[in-house]
Amino acid sequence: MSGFEQMEEDGVVWMNGEYVDWEDATTHVMTHALHYGSGVFEGVRAYDTEKGTAIFRWDEHLDRLYESAKPYDLDIEYEPEELTEATLEVVRRNDLDSAYIRPIAYYGYDSLGVSPGDCPTDVVIGAWPWGAYLGEDALENGVEVMVSSWRKHASSQIPTNAKTTGLYVNSLLAGEEARRNGYTEAIVLNKEGNVAEGPGENIFLVRDGEIYTPGLSESILGGITRDTVITLAEERGYEVHDDVSISRGELNTADELFFTGSAAEVTPIRQVDNVEIGNGGRGPVTEELQTAFFDLVERRTDEHDEWFTYVE
Ligand code: PMP
Repeated sequence: MSGFEQMEEDGVVWMNGEYVDWEDATTHVMTHALHYGSGVFEGVRAYDTEKGTAIFRWDEHLDRLYESAKPYDLDIEYEPEELTEATLEVVRRNDLDSAYIRPIAYYGYDSLGVSPGDCPTDVVIGAWPWGAYLGEDALENGVEVMVSSWRKHASSQIPTNAKTTGLYVNSLLAGEEARRNGYTEAIVLNKEGNVAEGPGENIFLVRDGEIYTPGLSESILGGITRDTVITLAEERGYEVHDDVSISRGELNTADELFFTGSAAEVTPIRQVDNVEIGNGGRGPVTEELQTAFFDLVERRTDEHDEWFTYVE
């Protein structure tokens, strides 16, 4: 179910420069990051493409990992080339045709003051098979979402453009609130009450043939799939407004809504708080961009080969 079963048999994880068996990839319970959420991570997909296994936009994910580490003064002592080679090798050694890849860097074991003091920065890269994040059906028919009663932290409280482990308790609260109420996923508003994003996704709105997505100053993570979809849409002649505020009410009057993310890919949203969006299914613009996205990542097109790192 989780994709871990396969890894438990003979999987390996890269930990601080070494390849260790899946079952030995453990950390001490007094690890700083376990107590204070002081880690940064990435979620990346490798696709089984017509040209072999390929990691999608690895360089951008790696850049974001180093950037996320900055506000926390986490010193990732490995060069990007070393982490790239380790990642390719993790995919190879685990014999994965497609994979979800999870690099993480965090304050490790030394002391438990909130100040990380002399805690080392541990760096780990794991990979495992992971299907559609919100389910196969979601990709085709869309998801029903609720606007969470939990607000996203303002970026003046915590850097929301850094992908920090501790941030995800907010995502957990919002997502679980939605699921307890029978929805698949949540939409989270920012402190101003405007639309920010999903718990692990960016959000897009289509109206009158134009595309809108909350700007980077709306307390969102600057998603790499968000950037991909903006590029694909502009290349197809759409006007994309990627620096706007979107009010809650505009969700209901949208022609189409969809989520983007490395895990969620391009997932249509068919209802918000039990109100149907547009035609109540996957809208035509969403479908066009979703098709373009999957044609791209599965390499049925030659476009943007620079976005792919082939595993070989
Ligand atoms: N927002 C949040 C809060 C996320 O966790 C993610 C997933 N990383 C995204 C947006 C989408 O980002 P990306 O497309 O880079 O995966």
